Amino acid sequence: MTPSRVVVVGASAAGLTAAETLRREGFSGQLTLVGEERHLPYDRPPLSKQVLKGEWEPERVALRPRQVLDALGAEWLLGRKAVGLDVAGRTVELAGGARVPFDGLVVATGVRPRRLPFGEGLGGVHVLRDLEDALALRDALRSAPSVVVVGAGFLGAEAAAAARQLGCHVILVDPLSLPMVRQLGTAVAERVARLHLAHGVELRCNTGVVGFAEEHGRVTGVRLADGSEIPARVVLVAIGSIPAVDWLRGSGLPLGDGLLCDTYCEAAPGIVGAGDVASWVHQRLGRMRIEHRMNAAEQGTAAARTLLGLRTPFAPVPYFWTDQFDVKVQAYGRPSGEAEFAVVAGDLGEDRFAGLYGQGGLTTGAVTWNMPREARTLRAEVEARAPWPVRTP
Ligand SMILES: Cc1cc2nc3c(=O)[nH]c(=O)nc-3n(C[C@H](O)[C@H](O)[C@H](O)COP(=O)(O)OP(=O)(O)OC[C@H]3O[C@@H](n4cnc5c(N)ncnc54)[C@H](O)[C@@H]3O)c2cc1C
Repeated sequence: MTPSRVVVVGASAAGLTAAETLRREGFSGQLTLVGEERHLPYDRPPLSKQVLKGEWEPERVALRPRQVLDALGAEWLLGRKAVGLDVAGRTVELAGGARVPFDGLVVATGVRPRRLPFGEGLGGVHVLRDLEDALALRDALRSAPSVVVVGAGFLGAEAAAAARQLGCHVILVDPLSLPMVRQLGTAVAERVARLHLAHGVELRCNTGVVGFAEEHGRVTGVRLADGSEIPARVVLVAIGSIPAVDWLRGSGLPLGDGLLCDTYCEAAPGIVGAGDVASWVHQRLGRMRIEHRMNAAEQGTAAARTLLGLRTPFAPVPYFWTDQFDVKVQAYGRPSGEAEFAVVAGDLGEDRFAGLYGQGGLTTGAVTWNMPREARTLRAEVEARAPWPVRTP
């Protein structure tokens, strides 16, 4: 049954794309977007890059001009948090008690930063997820001689690069052996480490953070598992994220690592999930959840089409990019550390290279380092699951 009243919870990349897709596919019913943030949809990737470095003013991150959003003919409930869902009664409950009825629902509430089990509310300790986080960290970095970044995944590594470019002394700490090793495997992670070292970032790998030193409610140091302490007035905690499904608890919807959806991004009849919050069954790759920008848009489109009965399995080639110093890294498929890796163009020692990952006789992932044209070619190899090992030059 085609819905006549759709509510989208989460007014960001995935939610906006879902709303736009609904209209593009001819949905003319009532459309409501509910967003906890008071902002109209904006883009998060620049937060750890241009915004943090002070190159962009906040207005520039808007995802669409105001007139384009107005043309959607949607009701915007911004600064309103969804706190509950009645699946049988078909209503979303908002903080304050209001109930918004729907017959089609898009869940696009993204993720929240994972926190350390200590240091809650301590001055000088930051996370980076939304615009306010980015502006607060930018302001802190402007007057700080140094910053400790806890977590060398892609967000921590990007923020470390931006802070270094602002002139801060940066110490990047991670319990794993190399920055981004989980995302890119050892060979490429070693290259990431060399990039950071060449720009003067201090790496403290193979050691976790066990506590903070504090004075008068402000952080003064970071205590490491190896017994050392790094003096710090500014700390960024970038240790991953947790799907924002708190408001769905008790609703009866299937929850696990996010909202559990099927191949078509559907979690229950008339209820779909999209973006960082949604775990779905990829026909070829199995169950997965992706926290990247391109996927948020693609899945927003797929989920909206499912709501309208235009069901196609959602089976993209996973993609992410990251910008650090003068390097653009682009990655397709599953460039995991468990796979074998081979360079297919350029050289790991140079400032340009491209490589493929393979496992079980198949090409499973690709990465390029300042080689955007090769990225498109290698994407095709990943999509085709070309035989592995590849012939290297
Ligand atoms: C600093 C930063 C840099 C990034 N850089 C890159 C990059 O370089 N490359 C890349 O591929 N990806 C990057 N990403 C990831 C990318 O931005 C995300 O994948 C994308 O934003 C996900 O979109 P989404 O709509 O699913 O979730 P989000 O953008 O997280 O939006 C979810 C929205 O839902 C709202 N919400 C949550 N709970 C509720 C509730 N209960 N009620 C109402 N509203 C709620 C939130 O406030 C938020 O506005 C970056 C992310 C961050 C934070």
